[in-house]
Amino acid sequence: MADTKTAIVTGGSRGIGREVCLRLAALGYNIAIVYVGDENEANDTIAECNKKGVTAKAYVCNVASFEETKATVAEIRKDFGNDIEFLVNNAGITRDGLIAFMKESDWDSVLSVNLKGAFNMIRHTAALFIKNKGGRIVNISSVSGLMGNAGQANYSASKAGIVGLTKATARELAPKGITCNAVAPGFIHTDMTKNITEDNSELLKTIPLGKMGEASDVASAVVFLLTSPYITGEVLRVDGGIAM
Ligand code: NAP
Repeated sequence: MADTKTAIVTGGSRGIGREVCLRLAALGYNIAIVYVGDENEANDTIAECNKKGVTAKAYVCNVASFEETKATVAEIRKDFGNDIEFLVNNAGITRDGLIAFMKESDWDSVLSVNLKGAFNMIRHTAALFIKNKGGRIVNISSVSGLMGNAGQANYSASKAGIVGLTKATARELAPKGITCNAVAPGFIHTDMTKNITEDNSELLKTIPLGKMGEASDVASAVVFLLTSPYITGEVLRVDGGIAM
């Protein structure tokens, strides 16, 4: 498997992550999918990547765990070799609630998966990227992290944290030829937003382009940043204009 370059995509089993996997597979990258437990969805992503002529493998790993992510990155290197070029930190969860009533566990789990998860993956791949004298990282933030969203204090904080993590990583690794950028989606049709209906005209009024986006819209931005050697520390909104 070591001849082709490899991309690691967390949360690649479904939603936005799956679209990113398929775009990168179409560009000829082998794909390492990190997911937490939806095996059927992960197998579907693998099958669709295989149809594009590349190798794909899925790894069950809770990105919130320092030890699990360390072991998973080591396993990916064993399976695919050390020519890992891209890391996409896309795995994310919501546990919404008003701050006056938010459970401590809902704060902790969202921060652990969304923010510490990205740190863990960067932490365990950075040395390889430095050794390889290159690598591209894209982290998925959210307009909730740029503007704040009522009922999402935990999620907004985690996604704002992603912006800081992205910029600090970009500055630190730029001298090594490694880029780090973020994409901040607005409302995108995936399982995460399945309870949001577009009949809700109040929601649509907040989106200048007047509709929700698709996972493919976000994947296009991710691939753009992954393939742009002179952009680093950028946060690219894919939100129909919400946060302009
Ligand atoms: P999704 O459809 O709910 O998919 C989430 C993905 O993350 C799944 O692959 C899931 O794996 C994986 N995942 C969840 N917890 C994990 C963990 N602890 N360890 C490893 N993998 C884990 O979500 P999505 O809408 O595609 O969102 C992708 C990213 O975009 C997230 O970071 C989200 O916050 C961000 N985002 C989404 C929207 C939106 O409107 N959809 C807007 C802004 C930002 P399993 O399949 O195994 O559960």
